[in-house]
Amino acid sequence: MFAGIFKNLGMDLGTANTIIYAYDKGYIVNEPSVIAYKNGSSDGYKVLSIGFEAKKMLGKTGREIKVIRPLADGVIADFVAGEAMIKSFIKRANVPSFLLNRMIVGVPTGITSVEKKAIIDSALTAGARKVYLVYEPMAAAIGVGMDVLGQHANMIVDIGGGTTDIAVINYGGIVVDNTLRLASDEMNEAIIRYMKNTYYLEIGELTAEKIKIEHGIASKDCDEKQFKVTGIDHRTGLPRELNLSNCIFLDAFSGVINAITNAIIGTLDQLPPELAGDIVDRGIVLTGGGALLQGLDEYLRERLNLPVNVAPNALFSVAEGTRKILESFDVYSPVIFQ
Ligand code: ADP
Ligand code: MG
Repeated sequence: MFAGIFKNLGMDLGTANTIIYAYDKGYIVNEPSVIAYKNGSSDGYKVLSIGFEAKKMLGKTGREIKVIRPLADGVIADFVAGEAMIKSFIKRANVPSFLLNRMIVGVPTGITSVEKKAIIDSALTAGARKVYLVYEPMAAAIGVGMDVLGQHANMIVDIGGGTTDIAVINYGGIVVDNTLRLASDEMNEAIIRYMKNTYYLEIGELTAEKIKIEHGIASKDCDEKQFKVTGIDHRTGLPRELNLSNCIFLDAFSGVINAITNAIIGTLDQLPPELAGDIVDRGIVLTGGGALLQGLDEYLRERLNLPVNVAPNALFSVAEGTRKILESFDVYSPVIFQ
C-alpha cells in the first residue's frame, strides 16, 4: 500500500546533457554534464558547481579550478569527478533517499564493466534501491516511439555531444550497432579550427557551440545570412569581431558529417539482408541534439537514398525512453539489465 509514495527515476547520462525524469513528477533535471571542482584544497577535492553553473565556467577559470565533462567521449574519463557529478544530479532531483526506489540509467553500448560499476555504485550511494541499465540507442528508440519489441527492424542514429550511437533494433534487442566517438561537439571544434585557419581568429568552445546552434547548416542551401563572431586575432593578440555568412559551415563541418555518414553506411553494411526491406520502408530516425543541425536530415537523405526523419523530441528521446520503461516496467523488462 506504500507503493505509490516511492519514486522511480529515469536518467539520461549524456556526454553533453544529463536529464532526470521522476516518475509522476516529470522532468526535474536537465542540465549540462559538467562539473567544476577545486584541486588542492585541504580535502583535496571540492565540488564547486555542476550543470549550468559549471558549464558557464568552461574556458574561463584559472589553474586551480578544473571544469570538466567527465563523460565527454562517452566513457568516464575521470571517475572521481564522474561519480561526484552523478550523485549531485540525483540529489538535485530532490527525492528523499528513503523514498527512492527504482532507477533506470541510459548507458553507452560500449560501456566497460568498470564504468557500469561506477554508475551503479553512484546511484546506490545516492539512495536508489535498485539500479537498472538500458543501452542509450535502445532507450532512444523507445523514446521516439519505435516498436522495439516487434519483428520489424528500426534504425536509430543518436547524435549526441561526444558520441554518435547507431543501432538497428528488433525483438527487444540490438541487431547491429556502432558507436562513433565523434558527434556534435566535434562540430564546435571544427568551427574553432576553421576560424583559426581561415581568419586567424581564436574563439572559445562556448562561442563555437552558440554559432553552431544559431546559424549552423549542413545543406548546400546556405543563404549567405550574416552573423557576428568575436574572438582574439592570433596575429595581433587583440580582440576582433568578424561578419561571416552561414556558407562557412559547408567547409567547416564536412569532415564530421562525412564521418557520421560513413559510420551509418558501415552499420547498414553489417545488416542481415533479411532486414534491408524494413530499413528501406521505415528509413532512419535521427535523434540527439546533433540531429537538430539544420539540413542534416536532407543531406543524409540524399547521401543514403533512404527516408530520414528527425525525432520531434530529439534532446529528450533517451530520457523519454526511460520514462516509458518505468511506466511499463514488465513489458520492457527484456531491454534492461544490471
Ligand atoms: P548527449 O546525449 O551526448 O548529452 P545531446 O543529445 O544532449 O547529447 O546533444 C548535445 C549536443 O547537441 C551538443 O553538442 C549541442 O551543441 C548540440 N545541439 C543542441 N541543440 C542543437 C541545435 N539546435 N543544432 C545543432 N546542434 C545542437
Ligand atoms: Mg544522448
